[in-house]
Amino acid sequence: MKKLNVLFAASEAAPFVKVGGLGDVAGSLPRALSRLEHAPDIRMVLPLHQSIDREKYSLKPVAVFTIAHAYQQIQAEVFETEFAGVPVYFIAGEPIGEAVYSSDEYLDGLKYIFFSLALLELPRVLKWHPDILHVNDWHTAAAIYSLSLHRGRDPYLKDTASLLTIHNLPYLGVGTEKALEEFGVPPAYNSDLPDWAKQMPLPLGLHAADKINLVSPGYAEEVLTPEFGSGLDGYLETQTQKLTGIINGLDLENWNPEQDQELVQNFNRASLGKRNKNKKHLLTTLDFSDEIETPLIGIISRMDYQKGIDVAVEALTELGEKRDWRAVILGTGSPEIEDQARALARRFPQRVRTLIRFDAILARRIYAGADMILIPSRYEPCGLTQMIGMRYGCVPVARAVGGLKDTIEDYNPRNGQGTGFLYQENNLQELVYALEGALDVYRDQRHWLGIQQAGMKQDFSWRRSAVQYLALYHDLINARIKKL
Ligand code: ADP
Repeated sequence: MKKLNVLFAASEAAPFVKVGGLGDVAGSLPRALSRLEHAPDIRMVLPLHQSIDREKYSLKPVAVFTIAHAYQQIQAEVFETEFAGVPVYFIAGEPIGEAVYSSDEYLDGLKYIFFSLALLELPRVLKWHPDILHVNDWHTAAAIYSLSLHRGRDPYLKDTASLLTIHNLPYLGVGTEKALEEFGVPPAYNSDLPDWAKQMPLPLGLHAADKINLVSPGYAEEVLTPEFGSGLDGYLETQTQKLTGIINGLDLENWNPEQDQELVQNFNRASLGKRNKNKKHLLTTLDFSDEIETPLIGIISRMDYQKGIDVAVEALTELGEKRDWRAVILGTGSPEIEDQARALARRFPQRVRTLIRFDAILARRIYAGADMILIPSRYEPCGLTQMIGMRYGCVPVARAVGGLKDTIEDYNPRNGQGTGFLYQENNLQELVYALEGALDVYRDQRHWLGIQQAGMKQDFSWRRSAVQYLALYHDLINARIKKL
């Protein structure tokens, strides 16, 4: 097999800079790819946000060039380092500032259009021919569009195929039209995109990419429907030959109940009995009485409309005194949803604790001590929470949507198989019903143990995802060779 050269671009990547899930993916996938048999020569490129510590990561200057803007030539400086065997390049320049994302769409537009155009200069600077340009979300999507317009002019890019990974479709890059125009990126008048989308980075990337993948097969199907398609479902329906879905992996070293330093008791699949110590400790921390038999439901989530925590609050209210249950809610986000979660704790002081904060340690203790993790998402491109839950023996109760339905096997009472509980529609009744079902099964601890063990047995490794990405890279190359 030919060794492929891959240029991988993203707005953020752990450990350099991480704001959300994209940072986890971009931090893990290139490394996992580089460790495969027949590994590609994968090189990362990131914006040099001011929060990135240049000294800590020993950044070395590599090159300086300029990018044309309507009013000036803007200087781009390239730096280089290596992380876990993967070469990483950073691009600095005036539009790239402190915040990874700001609330000013125009400024974010300038930053990411500048970055998208500058990263296309990298192959020439490095005298390196990428076979594949792999970009992520709207921030780097314009690079693929610009590649499609200028491919012929750069000998280093003339055979480069492109892949766009979508982590969250609704973020289209709205409000960046002026920035695109100032950097001379023309609208795609001749594309089949809807008119409103002809000058927006993500749609331009969809139009120009040789292949598009979403972060789960489930989400790849859902984006073809009006409910999840962000207005582009009709267009995407015409592009299905380009679309696939690949589930993200989980960092199995970071999320390991056998070695997690934050737990009072480590455990594994064969010693799930020990897990009770974590539950007891958690109950005490939360100032609950320590009756270990009462099922404890956990929620760990951004308080965003996407996550459906408002529906969970209603469902727990409905469940009320009818059943024996307790819940701990950990999250921050929309003040309105935060208030609803606080009000639930006030209404059921014996049953509910709400903690409005980001708390990485408490999150680990909830995964290790709660019996269930509730994930009532309205949409979920992939989702990590359910995978972490399963790995920690915390059984997911989740809406059958996107990556949740791809990673959780719904419990089947007939044969006792399954790794969690799924419900179909985002409504109160279905959620209450699913919770009641889970609470019923919980009473039979033998069955419950089977569900926990089945979840802990799942392979959520990055290696598994990387193997699929490598296959996709080869598909891309083969398709490109056929085209030429
Ligand atoms: P998203 O990236 O859309 O927020 P994911 O399920 O992919 O959702 O990942 C969320 C991650 O953030 C999980 O690791 C979850 O444990 C963590 N998390 C969310 N809210 C909090 C919080 N308030 N405190 C600690 N960890 C949190």
